[in-house]
Amino acid sequence: MTARIIDGKTIAADLRGKVTDSVHRLLRDRGLVPGIAVVLVGENPASEVYVRTKSKMVAAAGMHAIDRKLPVTTTEAELLALVGELNADPVVNGILVQLPLPPQIDSHKIIAAIDPAKDVDGFHPLNVGRLASGLPALVPCTPLGCVMLAKSVHGSLAGMDAVVIGRSNIVGKPVAQLLLAENATVTIAHSKTRDLPALCRRADLLIAAIGRAEMVRGDWIKPGATAIDVGINRVPAEGGKSRIVGDVAYAEAAAVAGALTPVPGGVGPMTIACLLLNTLRAACAQHGLPEPKI
Ligand code: NDP
Repeated sequence: MTARIIDGKTIAADLRGKVTDSVHRLLRDRGLVPGIAVVLVGENPASEVYVRTKSKMVAAAGMHAIDRKLPVTTTEAELLALVGELNADPVVNGILVQLPLPPQIDSHKIIAAIDPAKDVDGFHPLNVGRLASGLPALVPCTPLGCVMLAKSVHGSLAGMDAVVIGRSNIVGKPVAQLLLAENATVTIAHSKTRDLPALCRRADLLIAAIGRAEMVRGDWIKPGATAIDVGINRVPAEGGKSRIVGDVAYAEAAAVAGALTPVPGGVGPMTIACLLLNTLRAACAQHGLPEPKI
């Protein structure tokens, strides 16, 4: 079998297009422009590139991008004060504090200080609890993107056996909650799981969010299954260069799986598209408008 390649770039572009149309309608009908504040503390080059890309896409979708860059020496009190300011600013509908934060700042405290209605990353304990309780919530962007990609293949995920490798608060746990909400039968695996290959071979839907280059081999995948690869791992390449690979051994998996996301070009592009969607949803909710139909 040769897997169908799930084209995250195209699916994300389609989603961004729908969000942009909805943003234009919001401006035309209500005079509203959703705004998102992205806060970056310190000078992590990878985060800076990511934040720049985010800002460009936010602007391209017709939204306000409010970028706040703070020095690496910023104290927790200073960052809490900024979050308080953004919480109170009516132009700001979404707040995203780029993680990781420098060691003097407790990221849990910062996340908990964000107004849950503006928590477009979906990391606030209230949104985490709402998702777990099956209530409407702002949900984390990468997990939401994973579920959209799986649904692009299957339509409904009801009754599927899903295995999620990874239990982080950012990816593993929320993706498992979202799959459960889609009526999949979900197993969460982690570093203490016994016989991971055998567990994975039972999955109709395998989500790898590990952070270990090509750990999931072709013979871990049930023939015909769908594999969604969240991993972003930089590995040495020829000529002293480096390249990005996922958590799934792509060539091996492509020979076995029914559908597979590439890295790059799979889950990655969905994350920012889902951030735009969350910002639009947050803006509508804050203005008492119905959930946008996307
Ligand atoms: P974390 O390091 O927070 O979590 C990794 C998880 O993998 C942990 O639960 C860990 O288990 C589990 N794990 C580690 N080693 C093994 C192993 N040998 N066997 C089974 N499970 C293992 O990572 P994140 O969840 O933040 O990210 C995961 C990957 O996704 C990374 O490559 C990251 O770069 C990428 N990512 C991509 C995004 C995108 O937009 N495409 C966005 C966010 C992340 P345990 O809990 O027991 O330690």
